[in-house]
Amino acid sequence: MSLKGKTAVVTGSNSGIGLGVARALAGAGASVVLNSFTDRDEDHRLASELGAEFGVDVRYIKADMSSGEECRALIEKAGACDILVNNAGIQHVAPIDEFPVAKWDAIIAINLSSAFHTTAAALPMMQKNGWGRVVNVASAHGLTASPYKSAYIAAKHGVVGLTKTTALEMAGLGITANAICPGYVLTPLVEAQIPDQMKSHNMDRDTVVREVMLARQPSKQFATVEQIGGTAVFLCSDAAAQITGTTISVDGGWTAL
Ligand code: NAD
Repeated sequence: MSLKGKTAVVTGSNSGIGLGVARALAGAGASVVLNSFTDRDEDHRLASELGAEFGVDVRYIKADMSSGEECRALIEKAGACDILVNNAGIQHVAPIDEFPVAKWDAIIAINLSSAFHTTAAALPMMQKNGWGRVVNVASAHGLTASPYKSAYIAAKHGVVGLTKTTALEMAGLGITANAICPGYVLTPLVEAQIPDQMKSHNMDRDTVVREVMLARQPSKQFATVEQIGGTAVFLCSDAAAQITGTTISVDGGWTAL
C-alpha cells in the first residue's frame, strides 16, 4: 500500500500511539505533520529524524488541541490534509461527584471537540480532491464504560458518534471516517504506571500487568503502537474504501466480553 502523494496530519503525535501511527503512515510513503502543544527542539528533531528514516516530508506544527482556533489553524498551516488522524488525548480518574470541572472541560475539549474542529477544517480540502480518510483514535472506552472515567468515556463515546456522522455526510464522496478503539496499549504513559501499580498491589511486573492492568483484556497482552499504526494504514488503503462509519477494536477481546 503506497500513500505517496498523500499528506497526513496526526494530532498528539510526539509520543505514544500518535507517533506510532505517524511512523506507520510515513513508512507507507505519506508526508506527515506531527503535532503537540509543545514547541521544543526535540519535537522538530523528531520530525527530521522520521523524515530521514522513511525518505518522506515530515514537519512538526505546534497547536494546542484544547483550543478550537488552534485546531483549525493546524490544518490551515499543514496546507494539505488527505489523511486526518485525531489522536490527541488526556485522562483523569475521579468519581463524578468529585470530578474537577476544569479536568472535565479539558478532556472534552482535547479528546472530543478537537476532532470536530480539525475535521471541519479538513473536509473541504478532502472534498476538493475527492479522496480523504478520517481516522479517529477512540478507545474500548468509546464502546464500554468503567467507573471514575466519566469525562474520558463521554468524550470517547462522542468521538464514535462524530465518526458515524462524518461518514454519513461524506458517503459516496471518496472520503471515509472510522474510529480505532484500542484496549490497553503499552505507551510510555502506560509503562510509567507499572512501577506504582507494582508497589501498591505488592506484585511483580508480570502479575500486575496480567491481573490488574489487563484484567479486562482477555488476551492478557497489550496492544502495540505498531498494531494501531498498521490498522490506520489499512483504513487508508483502497481495500478499506467501503469501510466507513464504523469502529475497529484492537483490544485483545475486551469488547467481546
Ligand atoms: P500519550 O500521552 O503518549 O499521547 C498523547 C499525545 O497527545 C501526546 O503526543 C501529547 O503530547 C498529546 N497531547 C496531549 N494534550 C494535547 C494538547 N492539548 N494539544 C495537542 N496535543 C496534546 O498517550 P497515548 O496512550 O499514546 O494516547 C493517544 C490516544 O490514544 C489518546 O486519545 C488516548 O485516549 C488513546 N488511547 C490510548 C490507550 C492506551 O492504552 N495507551 C488506549 C485507548 C485509547
